[in-house]
Amino acid sequence: MGGKDKTELFKKIPAVDRLLGSPSILEASNKYPRPLLLRAIHHVLDKLRQQIKAGDGLQDPSLLEMEHVSEEVLTTLETMGRPSLRPLINATGIVIHTNLGRSMLAERVLERFGPIAGGYSNLEYDLDRGERGSRYVHVESILKEITSAEAAMVVNNNAAAVLVALDTLAKGREVVVSRGQLVEIGGSFRIPEVMRKSGAKMVEVGTTNKTHLRDYEAAVGPETALFLKVHKSNYHVIGFTEDVDAADMVSLGRKHGIPVMEDLGSGCFVDFSKFGLVKEPTVQEVLAKDVDLVTFSGDKLLGGPQSGIILGKKHLVEGIRKNQLTRALRIDKLTLLALEETLRMYRDEETATREIPTLSMILMPRQSLKAKARRLARMIGKVEPRNFGLTVTEGESKVGGGALPLLVLPTSLLCLTPGNLSAHSLEERLRAHDPPIIARIEKDRVLLDVRTLQDKELKTVAQAVRALAQA
Ligand SMILES: *Cc1c(COP(=O)(O)O)cnc(C)c1O
Repeated sequence: MGGKDKTELFKKIPAVDRLLGSPSILEASNKYPRPLLLRAIHHVLDKLRQQIKAGDGLQDPSLLEMEHVSEEVLTTLETMGRPSLRPLINATGIVIHTNLGRSMLAERVLERFGPIAGGYSNLEYDLDRGERGSRYVHVESILKEITSAEAAMVVNNNAAAVLVALDTLAKGREVVVSRGQLVEIGGSFRIPEVMRKSGAKMVEVGTTNKTHLRDYEAAVGPETALFLKVHKSNYHVIGFTEDVDAADMVSLGRKHGIPVMEDLGSGCFVDFSKFGLVKEPTVQEVLAKDVDLVTFSGDKLLGGPQSGIILGKKHLVEGIRKNQLTRALRIDKLTLLALEETLRMYRDEETATREIPTLSMILMPRQSLKAKARRLARMIGKVEPRNFGLTVTEGESKVGGGALPLLVLPTSLLCLTPGNLSAHSLEERLRAHDPPIIARIEKDRVLLDVRTLQDKELKTVAQAVRALAQA
């Protein structure tokens, strides 16, 4: 395309004022603030200018017509005006999906948000004494009640819990840790780096596959401040392996006056082996080994809000509380509220496993999953076989969130096999749906795992799949 033609095209781009005066945009101006409107217009016009400038130029000059441009502006406005953080439907079957917000909160937690979020509260106010109180009291006693810990404290997340604990207990001194436990958790949490940030000096002992108690003992010196045990959350070493039990680390620690800390990662209060799943040591069991300090996340297997929980010996937890870093890592009132209400549910295990979504989804019986998948299939009805095929199959879900890495949970899946639409295009269209539906692709099929689909979402999913069939 010649320079002259391009100049002609540039001239055809509608002026901002004309666009502002067009009926559809005038109508939109009642709904959107003017600065946003102008941003959308400039965004669309810039895009057109770039298209004209590009090597091949604008292929279709009708794109410059008023009607088309204002249509583009409206679409852009819709996208720009939409909140960035949006709810979506998790059809991946990964229960604790870090990218999708990890744990859903329980209904009763949600019910308590309004009054606390929209009003004043006794966040740091002692109602009995009429004076300043501590925000931590709201979860401290319930945590002690559930776990029998001597003392409890909460911070922003488990990464913060580990950081502040190391900073308090071992800054400028040595922390002994097994080479088999130098984990990296998604999103850049790496034990060696957290250690460095805290100012503690890491002393690695043992090997990747085997670490013995004598390795810890040999590392003890005048600068040893702590023995650290880290839960292998998201991987497993199999074969010729050996790890030291926390109880043995505690006995060794006592002999040398060295405290033992365990970063439990996920941390759970419920023994999953009772329900036929793999054995994951509970927080209570770890504390019963007399470990001095335990840290874990609030939004992994616990099923609460993002937070980091620190339990253990009173004098150590007191030290952490006084650390200046704690102020920077402190938990906000809405998180505190959600955590308190989630913890209250653990007073009765039956209530916890039924009402905390993370737990109920993990423990959902096979029969219920099968029934849910069949119900969804019925709601979808017959689809146009040209576009894709639809079957209900068996498959596996994962717990996710760096918890129970080896555990696969048998589940039921709705399986879309490509026809006119490829698996990629099916997945993309579901993702573009409002609300977005996040599915997974496996062996060129799109899978919708009913484990993480909520009953109230089935209708939406069914409609979205039916719409795909008509695409
Ligand atoms: C998940 C995890 C963390 C980080 O916890 P966040 O709550 O995500 O900050 C730290 N250590 C281990 C072992 C973990 O599994």
